Amino acid sequence: MKCYVGLGSNLGDRRANLESAARALRELSASKQLRVSPIHTTPALMPEIAPPEWNIPYLNAAAEINWNGTANELFQALQKIESDMGRVRTARWAPRVIDLDLLICGDMQIVQADLTVPHPRLRERAFVLGPLRDLAPGLKIQTQTSLSLLRRLKEKTPLWMGIVNLTPDSFSDGGELNDPTALTKRLQSQDVHVIDLGAESTRPGASTVQPEEEWRRLRPAFEILKDHFNGKIFKPLISVDTRYAATAARAIEFGANWINDVSGAADPEMIPLLRSCTCEYVLMHSLSVPPIAGHTIPTDKDPVYEIKEWSLRQIERLGIETDRVILDPGIGFGKTAQQSITILKEIDRLFELSMRILVAHSRKSFQRVWAEEPAAAERDIESVGVSIAMAAKGVDILRVHNPEMHIRAYRALSEVS
Ligand code: ATP
Ligand code: CA
Ligand code: CA
Repeated sequence: MKCYVGLGSNLGDRRANLESAARALRELSASKQLRVSPIHTTPALMPEIAPPEWNIPYLNAAAEINWNGTANELFQALQKIESDMGRVRTARWAPRVIDLDLLICGDMQIVQADLTVPHPRLRERAFVLGPLRDLAPGLKIQTQTSLSLLRRLKEKTPLWMGIVNLTPDSFSDGGELNDPTALTKRLQSQDVHVIDLGAESTRPGASTVQPEEEWRRLRPAFEILKDHFNGKIFKPLISVDTRYAATAARAIEFGANWINDVSGAADPEMIPLLRSCTCEYVLMHSLSVPPIAGHTIPTDKDPVYEIKEWSLRQIERLGIETDRVILDPGIGFGKTAQQSITILKEIDRLFELSMRILVAHSRKSFQRVWAEEPAAAERDIESVGVSIAMAAKGVDILRVHNPEMHIRAYRALSEVS
């Protein structure tokens, strides 16, 4: 039976605590395998009477485990991990080394004195539903999916995707990362949920790269990440930004979790590849890659409607589960600046598609409408502003160049919303 466990820690070395708990959970799993969500940082729940020193942010995650026993046996096993790790029961909302809650157990419904499954407060907690969305967006909790339950809440928990350009000619930071020492430093310092590795620039006028050369640029980054996170259960998801099925296939072999394809599966080999694997796929709307100046959605059309219709057609064509598809409306690709702005303003209309939504607005030229700075690398402040608006609306994934800045701004947003 597939079960989901919520992990939380806000005391001591929080990351190490989640890691040890996950190792113990992996031992419990019948398959000795554990799927985990990325780690979210969330404000502590603070009742009015709580002393201010309890206000330590939590690290939260979710894990999926294959369990062969009963729900009560799993619950006992979780309590044993908690006490083995030194959890002492004090006041209800006090900081804790580790909290393991049994969220879901197959389709079981249990109401007992000491155990309720699904977890009774699951539906009102973004810090639980966020990680569940990451692991299993289509997971049914009675009648609704984790994704749709999360969308109803006021608190938002976006994933931050940090861009790593392995190109000599990227539009905003080209060439900066050709030095292996700088690349290592950059990959290790990224405190992001997803690392998006790209080896081909899609800026207007960039030269195209063949799959061989693309893989030659990507491979060292995979090696660095593999060394750095060796043996760890929690590590950033790896996304590969490519239009070539040959590159995607190699990346999947090397452990890539997502394929981020700006062409919307224009390579005919991409579809059979996706059908044969379990990786997730970022489907981006565009009219052409690289974008051609002046070639946009007709200005008398509703761009959000066009993207919705297009994505429904593409899902049919791909023939893979909607759960595995993340829709990117393709800000700046085949849109006028005004259309890009309209899409961002009305982004919540895309939520009706029951798919995770990714927005990639960072440093893009539509921001010239209000930004004075001519250079893309100078548009981070404007980009952070857009990110915060998108996070507040409930966009699932934000792809940005300077994640540290965006994450700091988001922390402030999450503490006051
Ligand atoms: P919350 O349950 O609101 O997240 P908490 O995790 O801080 O609160 P604990 O002190 O860890 O609270 O546990 C409170 C009680 O919840 C435990 O005594 C446990 O028996 C009960 N409980 C009921 N259902 C569950 C469940 N599905 N998972 C974990 N604990 C549960
Ligand atoms: Ca709890
Ligand atoms: Ca608990």
